[in-house]
Amino acid sequence: MSWRDNIIKIEPYVAGEQPNKTDFIKLNANENPYPPSPRVKEAVARFDTEHLKKYPSANAVPLVKAIAKREGLKPENVFAGNGTDDVLSLAFRAFFNSEKPIIFPDITYSFNTVWCDILKIPYETVPVDENFNISAEDYARENGGVVIANPNAPTSIGRDLTFIREILDCNRDSVVIIDEAYVDFGGTTAVPLLKEYDNLLITRTFSKSRSLAGMRLGWAMGSAELVAALYATKDSMNSYPVDSIAQSAGVASIEDEDYFQCTLKRVIATRERLTKELRAMGFSLPDSQTNFVFAAHPKYYAKEIFEYLKTKDIYVRWFNKPRIDNYLRITIGSDEETDALIAALKEFVKP
Ligand SMILES: *Cc1c(COP(=O)(O)O)cnc(C)c1O
Repeated sequence: MSWRDNIIKIEPYVAGEQPNKTDFIKLNANENPYPPSPRVKEAVARFDTEHLKKYPSANAVPLVKAIAKREGLKPENVFAGNGTDDVLSLAFRAFFNSEKPIIFPDITYSFNTVWCDILKIPYETVPVDENFNISAEDYARENGGVVIANPNAPTSIGRDLTFIREILDCNRDSVVIIDEAYVDFGGTTAVPLLKEYDNLLITRTFSKSRSLAGMRLGWAMGSAELVAALYATKDSMNSYPVDSIAQSAGVASIEDEDYFQCTLKRVIATRERLTKELRAMGFSLPDSQTNFVFAAHPKYYAKEIFEYLKTKDIYVRWFNKPRIDNYLRITIGSDEETDALIAALKEFVKP
């Protein structure tokens, strides 16, 4: 035996490339092209660094209160953390302690399998159909938990409340996590179902729709019982997770609803324009309810287009994974970035 045998063997999540240069168009991590609310800028500028000598509010109380108010919930139904990834990993730890496998779609957020591996949670994936649709009946089976991203990533497809209700109705004995990272871009939230299902946990992020990927802020909403289990888990790992500056920035963001709505409208308008342009060039893609599109071209390999775009300093996401390796996931950038993308693609894709 060597200490080497005891070192973790794990395949980590791989994020979108961050090339070591400044002048390129980054459409590979679903970041928002617009800055966060000016109120966030103000809150950070005004932040009195004197406060940093003290620990932050342990349970991010001001932030939790602001989120609860916006969502029409009680603070006891909200949990805030350092990005959704932090919140989800705590949720996996807190809720998936059964011998039975947890289930999620084969094509979905690729962090799920990583957390299962590191936390030793058994899992099974459920294939989506050939159009990437998730069928609720497939989730009517014994399991140790259910995780669905709605809208789903990287497919960009969102489903309605009836679908979520079907999933919940056949899973009364499991915690069902609905990851709503992209819901603000036109999806349907499951928040109205929280009153009826105390096994439902919904997660959200500030990284995409609120332009705060660099700040690391996310939250979960669920019954007081689920939220209490998240706090207990957090307090068993690291009891002060959201730093004071991030808490102030988060509150400022949540309180600026007008700016938030305005930014969403811009991203959605660009998405609709890009969708039309891509279809005119022969790409096929589902209608997106997110801030990205998931597109394939019948005549060109996705990897070829991905490599070509890099030569034009445009970075999109290509997953070398079964079933989706001929698709590109393209983040909705600013109008200028999107124009550059369209121009580059038009040059490549000859009619
Ligand atoms: C981006 C993303 C997250 C995580 O976001 P954070 O930056 O950790 O808040 C979670 N789920 C999905 C599906 C995402 O795309």
